[in-house]
Amino acid sequence: MNISVVIPAYNEAENLRPLYDEVTAVLRRLGRSAEIIVVDDGSTDGTSALLADLCRRDPLLTGIRLSRNFGQTAALAAGIAHARGEIIVTLDGDLQNDPADIPRLVAKIEEGYDLVNGWRVDRQDTYVTRRLPSRLANWLISFTTNVKLHDYGCTLKAFRGTLAHSLRLYGEMHRFIPALAGDLGAAITELAVNHRPRIRGTSKYGLSRTVRVLLDLVTVKFLTSYLTRPIHVFGVPGIAAAATGGLLTLYLGLERLFFGVGLADRPILLLAILLVLVGVQFIALGLLGEMLARLYHESQSKPVYVVREVLGVDRGPVTIWSSPPAPAAHEATLRS
Ligand code: UDP
Ligand code: MG
Repeated sequence: MNISVVIPAYNEAENLRPLYDEVTAVLRRLGRSAEIIVVDDGSTDGTSALLADLCRRDPLLTGIRLSRNFGQTAALAAGIAHARGEIIVTLDGDLQNDPADIPRLVAKIEEGYDLVNGWRVDRQDTYVTRRLPSRLANWLISFTTNVKLHDYGCTLKAFRGTLAHSLRLYGEMHRFIPALAGDLGAAITELAVNHRPRIRGTSKYGLSRTVRVLLDLVTVKFLTSYLTRPIHVFGVPGIAAAATGGLLTLYLGLERLFFGVGLADRPILLLAILLVLVGVQFIALGLLGEMLARLYHESQSKPVYVVREVLGVDRGPVTIWSSPPAPAAHEATLRS
């Protein structure tokens, strides 16, 4: 299997058939072995029946029906989990992404990139509720994470299969796929793609997602930069606070003991105590984080690195306190 096209669809009954036709036509022209995976994310509008019907007729089409609406990220994850292709292409189920762009994305992967991100240069959505917040979000994500792109929210992407299968997607993290992929050391590029207005069906998102994107950004920043060293995030402000508070307390204490200056009417004493307490708590939180990081990695045999390839004969990593399962099987690899 060469190419898997993964499409999340939530109440896209009117779009499914034309989309299926467009994708099939493009794949046929491309002339590779390919499959299409449509994930029905708990639709309630007839998408399911239509999908079942299409799947009966076309063995290259797989439909995955989720038990309820889990959201776009989960739908993508489900589709990717079932995708057999060496290259996995994802696109929206509402015809806004243009399947005609697929061959160019695939070509980029074959040039050697692990992830090609679409860039909706001429985005066809309303300005105030969609394009403006998206511009701010893109700027912020680009500023915060190490992967510099123009359009993180574009579902039209192509992945090397091994990379797609290494991604762990939670919540509404699909917008941060480039950042997560960058964290795995993937070679990432972007490609200008066509974008069309939504003609049928309704958009599933509004302005309300802005706040959630911000919170997700904090999570992603933490996970990609500090997952293996949480004490550095919490410890530095912790030590700063504790040290400032300690010095202040010392100074106030000396004044009281040796110069007879009263403490009762000095609010700065409260600040000093607060700083010490906060500092100690931060350091303790960092230590807890360190323990959790070890639990996270060791309980699941998750290594703290990603192997791109092994040169020469691979004898696999050595286990010292040997406990099954063998870590080799769990090592994340970017290329097979
Ligand atoms: N989608 C989904 N589950 C959801 C919400 C959306 O699978 O809970 C799909 C939806 O069917 C579409 C894609 O995700 O194929 C993008 O959704 P939408 O077009 O509403 O987002 P927009 O393009 O407006 O950002
Ligand atoms: Mg859309």
